[in-house]
Amino acid sequence: MNPEPVRGDAARLDTVRTTADLRAAVARWRKAECTVGLVPTMGGLHDGHLALVRQARAECDRVVATIFVNPTQFNEESDFESYPRDEARDAAGLAAAGADFLFVPSAEVVYPAGFATTVSVSGLTDCLCGVSRPGHFSGVSTVVSKLLLQALPDVAYFGEKDYQQYLVVRRMARDLDLPVRIAAVATVRAADGFALSSRNVLLTPEQRRRAAALFQVLSDMAERLAKGAPAQPELARGRTVLIEAGFERIDYLDLRHGETLAALERAEAPARLFAAAWLGETRLIDNVPVA
Ligand code: AMP
Repeated sequence: MNPEPVRGDAARLDTVRTTADLRAAVARWRKAECTVGLVPTMGGLHDGHLALVRQARAECDRVVATIFVNPTQFNEESDFESYPRDEARDAAGLAAAGADFLFVPSAEVVYPAGFATTVSVSGLTDCLCGVSRPGHFSGVSTVVSKLLLQALPDVAYFGEKDYQQYLVVRRMARDLDLPVRIAAVATVRAADGFALSSRNVLLTPEQRRRAAALFQVLSDMAERLAKGAPAQPELARGRTVLIEAGFERIDYLDLRHGETLAALERAEAPARLFAAAWLGETRLIDNVPVA
């Protein structure tokens, strides 16, 4: 460990846009025997992202955040276009949370002409968002494997908010022998329980008020499932409550094993409840453990 880890501040947050510049910085740190933490994001940063940075700051000597709105993991062109982008605001937040370095590659840097490789993880991607967002996880696995190989961090941080993504990335890193620990960070929520999300800014105030029902329904269901309630009636009831709360469409509401994502009929540890539902044009996801 470096005895005097540098605390991030706005003046120290170097921003680079090429893989060569990122690698040069990481090589310098490695030479100084610093450990490196990586926090991949798509920008539109909020306190959930910053919790990842804070955990990285606490565990690593140097913290690299990345911002890349990855076109290959979007299903709708309109979702990609409307995705919030404000690099200056994001950089200020990252610096305040303790990041040392920001990598912001362009689409040409990530996918140069002739790019023809896809990384895809089977099994874990056959359910939940893998079904409702075809191709999404191949986009994620491909870009995350690139970022991991570009930065070669000791630890990469992912939010439990996207729990399936965390499991997929962890599987990929293990299967490809990538020398990195994949760390999970607990979901950061607003006071009403709503999981912070970059797409929140796309919700109207009325939709934002209704959105809290997602976590409330999951929490209520988790409590009953933990006491031994069978899954199917709970799931049916949960769907009805979500529709009554104003969600127009539910992509899934499922009880699954927290490691394998196998569907469960009753809560067996480690069980997890997963939901994806639509408010207007905005798709929200959340998940909670069933203890
Ligand atoms: P994104 O920019 O949406 O791709 O998210 C970047 C990282 O931040 C992912 O690992 C997400 O799981 C994580 N993240 C997003 N929202 C939250 C949240 N509310 N709490 C914790 N982590 C989050």
